[in-house]
Amino acid sequence: MMFPFSLKPIRWLFCASVFCCCLFGCASVVAQNTFIPEAQIVLFTPSDIKPPPREDYLPRLNLFGLYAEQFFHDGLKDWGYQPARKEIFNRDADGKITVIHVKGDLPAAGGSYKDKWISAQVHDKLKSDHGIKIAGNLYWIFVYVGDPPVRHDNYRGSGNSKDGGWAVLNYINVSSKVSLGDEMVSRLHDDLTLKGCIHEFGHALGLSHIGPKVELRKGNTLMGPVNRIYAAQKLPNRTKAYLAEANAAVLSTHPIFTGDASQRNKLPETDFQQIKVSFNRRSRTMDVTGRLKSSDQVHRIIVIDDRDDKIGAYWVKGYVAELDARSGFSVSIPQPGPTGSLKILAVYTNGAYTGDGMKRGIESAHVVPYSRAN
Ligand SMILES: [Zn+2]
Repeated sequence: MMFPFSLKPIRWLFCASVFCCCLFGCASVVAQNTFIPEAQIVLFTPSDIKPPPREDYLPRLNLFGLYAEQFFHDGLKDWGYQPARKEIFNRDADGKITVIHVKGDLPAAGGSYKDKWISAQVHDKLKSDHGIKIAGNLYWIFVYVGDPPVRHDNYRGSGNSKDGGWAVLNYINVSSKVSLGDEMVSRLHDDLTLKGCIHEFGHALGLSHIGPKVELRKGNTLMGPVNRIYAAQKLPNRTKAYLAEANAAVLSTHPIFTGDASQRNKLPETDFQQIKVSFNRRSRTMDVTGRLKSSDQVHRIIVIDDRDDKIGAYWVKGYVAELDARSGFSVSIPQPGPTGSLKILAVYTNGAYTGDGMKRGIESAHVVPYSRAN
């Protein structure tokens, strides 16, 4: 089944990762990280909130960690990658995923934390109280402000392969548990916002939004729309969610999965040239060709089709190409929209993901507007 182009656009914002890049950007000025990044799960409570019993939240968040590890591992393998590392979250001597409880300085009363950067406070506390090195590592921060219906409703995440990253989301203290063998999308998992939590951790790993290709029959994407929006479109395979090919290409070079962080600081020169967009009426495709000038080893080229008539911001589609011997690439985009823009980036073998060689991530993309009328 092809994507229904005529659907009415829906604007639905779930998180705001693009606004959150500054904290690690600043840290990176003083830190040169050539170690394999560690990912730590944190339970955060404001100063006036008593955390749930440790025997409750520890096994609960353990399951979140195990589920996320399995999802990323399976997603990478599905797209032909062989991740060297599967266990990405910190573990204790017995091999159990560890969860650190961090108590904030400010109370929940009055809504202080709605306007504060929880991640910055968690970083400060982890440094001062636990002696943990922050820069270059990743933090998956579950915020508990009380039992439902009270919740921390500001889901965010940001990061990249050099600086590490963070994600902040709500800890829901209900008796439901993540079921490791079950599909990502279920009533129970949605109650726990499982996909939303891993989505934000995807931002911490440097991923941007990529929507589903319905014709793959794999359901929604991790970095795509929230499940109820996907379901509201009456699209198939609603119990499934998968790692989009373009996201897998980026993750496959992240040092947390490759185990090789020796070059993680380098941001290669990146100069896209001779980008040509043509419309093939016979095959009903938009064909994109170009060259990449860079002295570094390129893993994949990512072309994101951000068509103007998409359902919403989470529905952009990603296409993946390899460079040929002359540093050229091409992708063919089926049934293109009438107008839009292409966002073109390179993934390097050291984990760097950039479109301009100056910044990292989707905001650095080489942007090429297109119109079928031209
Ligand atoms: Zn997001």
